[in-house]
Amino acid sequence: MPLRRLLKGFNDFRLGYFAEHQDLFERLSRDGQAPKILLVGCADARVDPGIVTQTRPGELFTVRNVAALVPPAQYPPDMRHHGTSAAIEFAVRALGVEHVVVLGHALCGGIRSLVDGKESVYADYDYLASWTAIAQGVRDRVVAELPGRPADEIARAVEQASVLNSVTNLMSFRWLAERVEAGTLVLHAWWFNMTEGSLYAFDPAQGRFSQVRGVELVPAMQAGSPLSAVRPERLVETLAGKPPAF
Ligand SMILES: [Zn+2]
Repeated sequence: MPLRRLLKGFNDFRLGYFAEHQDLFERLSRDGQAPKILLVGCADARVDPGIVTQTRPGELFTVRNVAALVPPAQYPPDMRHHGTSAAIEFAVRALGVEHVVVLGHALCGGIRSLVDGKESVYADYDYLASWTAIAQGVRDRVVAELPGRPADEIARAVEQASVLNSVTNLMSFRWLAERVEAGTLVLHAWWFNMTEGSLYAFDPAQGRFSQVRGVELVPAMQAGSPLSAVRPERLVETLAGKPPAF
């Protein structure tokens, strides 16, 4: 029974983690949350940001959606249901986070459905294609510029280029771009390979994702970074020159 599993898990949490960290929960209840990081991740059940980053409650403000996508800002704002944009706005404007991490991942079903397009078994779903279309331009560019590459390589290229597309879209929110330009907010483009258990981050100097080995990394975007350095087109250009090393 899957639900029994949840209730057993909650019981274990209450007697174990909660009991051990009661002071933390008391402090978070009293003082409220003050996370320094917003993470935009995928809804995929295999990529849990809290587990992958081993963070504690209160440390990570998280928004998860299909394929870890950030839509472009809408000006003037309309009355549609911009769930991801609302979460980003709250994290940046109300909580004042200092970092935004977009965490894409390998074997992403949302990206795969975008890559497959009309061939996808989900092509006639009501909402999926219009959501993943946020990265349609990126998908089309990868398919056009990397002809003859194996399907898994194309999928990885779209997964990674889509993360950069999301970082570019983050910069379309005025109050977010202002903070990046003021040096109070730093943006990161990450991609997680669950098979290897490895993390990659986009390195603007190299124009590609490189494996993160220690605790230091180069941000994708910070004050003074040229926006052109993190454009998905740049990654595709690099990948067209040589295939990824992973
Ligand atoms: Zn995914």
